[in-house]
Amino acid sequence: MSEVLGGYTLTKHFGPTTALAGVDIAIGEAEAVAIMGPSGSGKSTLLHCLAGIMKPDSGEVHLMGQRVDNLGERRRSALRRTRFGFVFQFGQLLPELPAEENVALPLMLGGVSRTQAVRQARDWFGPLGLQGMEGRRPGELSGGQAQRVAIARALVTKPAVVFADEPTGALDQSTGHDTMRLLVEATKHNGASLVVVTHDPNVAGWCDRTVEVRDGRLSGSAVPDQTFTQLLPGVQA
Ligand code: ADP
Repeated sequence: MSEVLGGYTLTKHFGPTTALAGVDIAIGEAEAVAIMGPSGSGKSTLLHCLAGIMKPDSGEVHLMGQRVDNLGERRRSALRRTRFGFVFQFGQLLPELPAEENVALPLMLGGVSRTQAVRQARDWFGPLGLQGMEGRRPGELSGGQAQRVAIARALVTKPAVVFADEPTGALDQSTGHDTMRLLVEATKHNGASLVVVTHDPNVAGWCDRTVEVRDGRLSGSAVPDQTFTQLLPGVQA
């Protein structure tokens, strides 16, 4: 199956404001898609609808062929915890917990014992260039290191899709570049798809495809590239 996540004719209004005016988008397997557009164009609303954080007013969201937008809050919350990973602009790590427990947290919330969750969490530190940082609290990490901890936390549950909202927005250019490369590589390496909201064309440049949101509508290719899907084993374009 080429499509992992799909949004169909999504609309969302806030009072008189139309945030989404009928958006169709499909995200392919292990595909990285950048969502760009001016401030206020509807990027975050689209990400929140796709990730089950917000319900669209109309339209549907499907994950691996299953409709998910109409699930109740409890099941959408479980879906976010088990099938999705999240990386935000400022990491949003818990300051009082050491890095390894921040990474272990989604596993513990899913019922894995603390010892087992921390053991699994530690496996991510080496590949993400964080060896020796396991016991540090977020305040003792650089911005780039903290974002790598956030990437590990997003991937530790082996999600189908990682959502990132301006993941390098608080970093300098060179650190942002390295962080984005790691985010794309680590996500693909784990077979997950990536949806990144960004203002930065350099960040979008790391992705397989960019879509533009303007006034709640999408321009750019709403479906995975033919060339891209042809590259995926077992996937028919
Ligand atoms: P972007 O992420 O592209 O900056 P958003 O999706 O945050 O845009 O917002 C799209 C539009 O919806 C904007 O006009 C914004 O002011 C409005 N909006 C977003 N969230 C809310 C909200 N919770 N309440 C009222 N208006 C909102």
